[in-house]
Parts: sequence; structure tokens; C-alpha cells
Amino acid sequence: MRIGVLTESDPGEPRVATVPDMVKKYVALGAEVAVQSGAGKDAGITDKDYEDAGATIAGSADEAVRDADIVLKVRRPDADELKTLKSGAVVVAIMDPYGREAEVKAMADAGISAFAMELMPRITRAQVMDVLSSQANLAGYRAVIDASAEFGKALPMMMTAAGTVPAAKAFIMGVGVAGLQAIATAKRLGAVVSATDVRPAVKEQVASLGGKFVAVEDEEFKQAETSGGYAKEMSAEYQKKQAELVATHIAKQDIVITTALIPGRPAPKLLSKAMVDSMKPGSVIVDLAVERGGNVEGSKLGEVVVTENGVKIVGHANVPGRLAATASGLYAKNLYAFVETLIDKESKQLAIKWDDELVKATNLTRDGAVVHDAFKGKAE
Ligand code: NAD
Repeated sequence: MRIGVLTESDPGEPRVATVPDMVKKYVALGAEVAVQSGAGKDAGITDKDYEDAGATIAGSADEAVRDADIVLKVRRPDADELKTLKSGAVVVAIMDPYGREAEVKAMADAGISAFAMELMPRITRAQVMDVLSSQANLAGYRAVIDASAEFGKALPMMMTAAGTVPAAKAFIMGVGVAGLQAIATAKRLGAVVSATDVRPAVKEQVASLGGKFVAVEDEEFKQAETSGGYAKEMSAEYQKKQAELVATHIAKQDIVITTALIPGRPAPKLLSKAMVDSMKPGSVIVDLAVERGGNVEGSKLGEVVVTENGVKIVGHANVPGRLAATASGLYAKNLYAFVETLIDKESKQLAIKWDDELVKATNLTRDGAVVHDAFKGKAE
């Protein structure tokens, strides 16, 4: 059984899909691992590191994956990469399939079995495979680091001979995995932290991290969580009440991190231009939802926008990629945990259980067809 690892073709993607420690584990499973030369460069991993772990180094993408039964990637394979893959190959990556039905169909046409790691069910057995969590946690941490780097003041309160520096006020909007880590990081850096979310379960979590919970706690709020633990899209009436509450709170904040997402929908708009304009000059907003349309009016993907009033709106793309080494390490572990379940330990060959819950939930294409219910027939 051969596993191929490609250098990511997207110039905005510094992560790599496997790391030397996981190469050792794949080799122990009986696999031969070929890594494209330079694949780990932006994550601080050299070809020699991979070689020492038991991989062979391939001079080109084609050489890395031509005979591979399993191909590991961070992002969905592009058209050129699809041409190099052998028919029937398993490709595991973050496939970003929503609204990309043509690209999903192209993977079916290429005859590959594509698995989208971000569709992994959030059940106990699959926690170790949860790429959304491993990457969102780092994004939440990095958002606070980025905000503090853009902020012209210190975060902790300091009592010095030259005077007292007040603690910065940080407000986290959306308290999922990224938001919780943002709260914890801002607290560690000494900020006074408050947070909001539409899910009631979050209130206790915010308090346990030492943050203050700020939300409209009406009847709709009490029902705002789906059985899967995600947020529902809130009514216009709730959003209006939420906006009024946020408007009074936001003007006093120094740093705002927004992380609010609703699965399969554009990100909810939480901060209007008027709210941004109400903030003090020098305040910083980091919009972690910018790739999904943004939570903040005026945020721009890949840019730090400075408003007329001197508020910075940070819209970095691929925030986990800004910690490429750590993000690759955790992502590689998520991938290994899943791929291991696709391999028969005795024969050391691929033995996919197609009716397994995790396989069904993540498998997009198989035998030349789009097989996932959410994407079937969408590109025809
Ligand atoms: P997410 O990335 O989908 O959304 C981020 C946060 O934004 C969520 O907390 C959501 O409630 C919030 N949000 C949505 N609309 C909002 C609005 N209008 N105003 C304010 N906030 C808004 O969330 P996530 O990080 O993927 O986490 C979602 C849930 O999944 C959480 O309950 C989390 O604890 C749970 N989870 C479970 C597991 C597991 O069991 N394996 C793993 C990870 C996360």
C-alpha cells in the first residue's frame, strides 16, 4: 500500500498533510510513504526529516502520487493534481465542498474516492479526527496574538513607577472552539474579557474561563442550539435585540474577535459600520469568519483595513496556516486517526468499510460518482 503526500499547490497554504511522526506510524502500518520534495518547507519540516522517519522523497507531484492508493492533502486537489492521481485512489483533505459542486464532480470524474475531513461527525469516537476543532482552536489563539500585535497598547494592567496602565478590554463574539480559545488566550495575556453567543450552553463555559457573558437571554435564545450542538440562524427580531445590546457594549472595547458561523450558511453579520465607528481609534477587530462572508461590515479577506476613525479590522485568510507548524502537526494526527480506520491491519491493504458512520459522513465521491447526499446531482 502506497501513501503519497503532496506539496500544497495553493500559494496561500503553508500547512502540510503529514509530519515525520505520522510517517513513522504509517510505515508501522505497513505503508510505503512518498512525500513530494519541499512539502513541509513552510511548516519547518525538511525532506531529510521525512526521510529519517521512513518516507521516500519524490522529485515531483506526479512521482509522489502516481501509484498512491492514498493521497494526503490539506486542500482539495486541483485540476492538475487530479490528472496525476490513479483511478480509485483515496484522497483525504479539507474539501470545502459547499458551493463547489463542479469541483466535487471533477473529483468523481477523476475516479477518486474523496473524503472531506470537515464533514466528520462530532461524536466521541471521531474527536481525534476533528480537523475543524484542531484548526479552529489554533485560529482562536492566533486571532488574539494578531490583535495584540496590531494594538498599540499593552493588554495586562501594569502598575509601574511611571503610572498605571489599564487592562485592555477584549470581547469575543461566537464562543465555539475558536471563541473559547480566544477567551482563554486573552485572559492569559491579561485582558478583561467578555463574550457573547446565541447558544445558552456557552454561558457557563465563558464563566469558567473567567469571562463575562453578554447576551440577549430571551425565549428564542433558550432554543437556539440544534441537536448537533450548532447555532441556529436567529430571527430578524432577535438579531435586532442582539445588535442593540452589542452596540452599547462594543463602544467600550479595545479588541473584538468575531468567530460566529452557522453550518452551510453565510456567516451572520454581527458588527455594522456604525458599531465599528463607535469604537475608539486604535481599537482592533479580528474577523475570523471573513472567509465565510465575514461577521463585520467592512472586513476584507486577506487585508488589515484601517477605518477613517482609526479602527483596524483584521481579515487574515487561513489563520490556522499562520501557525503552520503546529497546525500541520495536529492536522496530520487527525488524518492519521481516520486513515488508520481505512486499513486492514492483517493484510496491510486498504479495506474501507463503506457503511461505517464516519466513512459515510465524509465520503464525497466513489467509482466515478458523487455519492454524498448533500452534493449528489448538484452539478448536473
Ligand atoms: P462554529 O464554528 O460553527 O460557530 C462558532 C460559534 O458562533 C458557535 O458557538 C455559534 O453558536 C456561534 N454563533 C452563531 N451565530 C451567532 C450569532 N448570531 N451571534 C453570536 N454567536 C453566534 O462552532 P464550533 O466551534 O464548530 O462549535 C459548535 C459546537 O460544536 C459547540 O457546541 C462545540 O462545543 C461543539 N463541538 C463538539 C465537538 C465534539 O463533541 N467532538 C467538537 C467540537 C465542537
